[in-house]
Amino acid sequence: MERIEKELRKIIKSVKAYIEAEQLAGIEEFYSRPLPRPQGLQELRQQVLECRLCPLYKNRKNPVFGEGSPKARLVFVGEAPGREEDLRGKPFVGRAGELLTKIIEAMGLKRRDVYICNVLKCRPPQNRNPVPQEIAACRNYLRRQLELINPKVICSLGKFACSALLSEDFPISRLRGTFQDFCGIKVMPTFHPAYLLRNPAAKAWFGKICRRLWQSCKDERT
Ligand code: URA
Repeated sequence: MERIEKELRKIIKSVKAYIEAEQLAGIEEFYSRPLPRPQGLQELRQQVLECRLCPLYKNRKNPVFGEGSPKARLVFVGEAPGREEDLRGKPFVGRAGELLTKIIEAMGLKRRDVYICNVLKCRPPQNRNPVPQEIAACRNYLRRQLELINPKVICSLGKFACSALLSEDFPISRLRGTFQDFCGIKVMPTFHPAYLLRNPAAKAWFGKICRRLWQSCKDERT
C-alpha cells in the first residue's frame, strides 16, 4: 500500500511538472493528440528540432540531440548543453567534453564508438541547473532515444542524469559507482566531467569505473 501511494505521488508530481512546463511555454489548453512515436533516431531528432514543450527553445541556437553510434553498447548521458554545445549543436564539445573525450580514448575507444547525449536537449540560460519542468518536458525524448539505441550500459554523468534516469531522490552520494537499472539496461551513476575538472583527484576513480563499464559491455556481447 505504501509503495502504491509512493508511486502515485511520483506520477502526480510528474504530471504536475509537465502541465507547468506546458503553461510556461504559453500552452493553456490541452488536447489529446500525442506526438507519433518515432521509429528511428532521425525521426526523434526531427521532433526535438521542432520541440516547444518548454521555454528553452526560445533562446537556443541549436538543439543538441546527441551523437555517436546508433548501435552503441555504451551511452553517456550528461545534463544539458552549455554555450559551446549550443553553438555547435553537438554534445560535450566544451572543456568538460574535452575531458570526456580523453576518458573515452583512454578506454581504447573513439567518440564514434559510443553514444553521447544529455537529459535536456536545449541550453538553459547562463548554464543554470535544469529545473524539474524542463526535465519533465525532455524526459520522453531521452527515454525513446535510449530505447532505440538499446545499449548494454548507460553511464549517467552527474546528479541530473541520475535523477532523470533513476529517480528524483536517487541517493547519488551513496550509490555512485554501483550498477542500477533503467528499463532493463544497466546504469552506472558517476561524477559529471565538469566536477572532475574541479576535482582532479576523482579522475582516477572515474577511469577505473569506465574500464569496468567497458568490460561489462564486452561481457554482455552476444
Ligand atoms: N555538460 C553537459 O552535461 N552536457 C554537455 O553537452 C556539455 C556539458
